[in-house]
Amino acid sequence: SSSEPSRSRNVRSITPALLLIAALAPSAFAQSASPDFTRCIESLRGDARAARVQDEAFTRFTQGLVPDMSVVEKLDYQPEFRMPIWDYLAALVDDERVADGQAQLAQHAEVLAKVAERYGVDPATVVAVWGVESNFGRNFGNYPLVQALGTLSCHGRRQAFFRGELYSALRILQAGHIAPERLVGSWAGAFGHTQFMPTTFERLAVDFDGDGKRDLMDNTADALASTANFLKKAGWQSDQPWGFEVKLPEGFNANGEGRRSKRPIGDWIARGLTQVDGAPLSRDLGSAGLMLPAGPQGPAFLVFKNFDAIYSYNAAESYGLAIAHLADRLRGAGPFTTPWPTDDAGLSRAERRELQGLLVLRGHDIGAIDGALGEKSRAAIRIEQARLGQEVSGRGGQKILRALRGG
Ligand code: CA
Repeated sequence: SSSEPSRSRNVRSITPALLLIAALAPSAFAQSASPDFTRCIESLRGDARAARVQDEAFTRFTQGLVPDMSVVEKLDYQPEFRMPIWDYLAALVDDERVADGQAQLAQHAEVLAKVAERYGVDPATVVAVWGVESNFGRNFGNYPLVQALGTLSCHGRRQAFFRGELYSALRILQAGHIAPERLVGSWAGAFGHTQFMPTTFERLAVDFDGDGKRDLMDNTADALASTANFLKKAGWQSDQPWGFEVKLPEGFNANGEGRRSKRPIGDWIARGLTQVDGAPLSRDLGSAGLMLPAGPQGPAFLVFKNFDAIYSYNAAESYGLAIAHLADRLRGAGPFTTPWPTDDAGLSRAERRELQGLLVLRGHDIGAIDGALGEKSRAAIRIEQARLGQEVSGRGGQKILRALRGG
């Protein structure tokens, strides 16, 4: 999954109402196979064969395939709205997800203990990845994988990459690890509890319960162990933390520092860094980089190799911090000590749903109340911000929520 930066993990679920519309007006949704598309897929047969996909399997799993052009739109989509890190974290690490994660830790305690023993990755970290990747198995995405990858293999700007993933998906089906109708995922091809890309699956998925299948769709033990195996192969060290929040001395010059600029812990001590509560840093740790995800005014973190292992799951520092922080929260830690540099903090998913409900009460059509502030919600927020004399940003934060609560 590390090689695919554009994975979507917020795929909207298909509502029954949408299915009904689709049934009444198929032409609006279904796309028929153009001769060009069919020809393109057929032209991949030789490459697929060279990539160990048998002819019979290629035929069986691609027969009658029609393109889904919506995935090409997703590939080219440039968000007009860049989410601040405090919004990103507020939704991914909220009280609801901490409570859910703690329940999962208890429910799967036995298998997580075995996973920790075999791979050296602690239960909270494994469960935190699971929570961020698929909301503990609740959100896999709804795109049939062969269709999505087949479309991206013949349309758009990264066809060579997606062809490799398509052949991999076909090999997974050919091997019988997952039933064809169960192989659904994100528009870009990540699937299952751990949202692995097919090639990541082939490299790193494990059959932990020993039934002969590596099943990341329907088998929690396989999924949790595969996540731990990913982190172990990415360099996880069981005697090291991912990192922790630190306090910078007055006037600290952080120019040139970052996750990758690792320095011995003694250097940081010499430069005046302490634990966030002012206690001295332990010298018994490896090298760490200084990460300032919101600049020098926000929380500061020393991050070790284990943070890089999490980062390699999906190359974004905000993503890595969400998993690392969720793991800490699952172990009982509180929120960060240093506030984010904003006077309008982000919203939890519960607060986002509340905001959406208040927008509906004011007559806005925002689609489903799903806790995800999409374009319709942001358009409604803009109208309300203008009405209330607030800065018109379309961003859902505490200010607009408080104002709408007051009527
Ligand atoms: Ca298995």
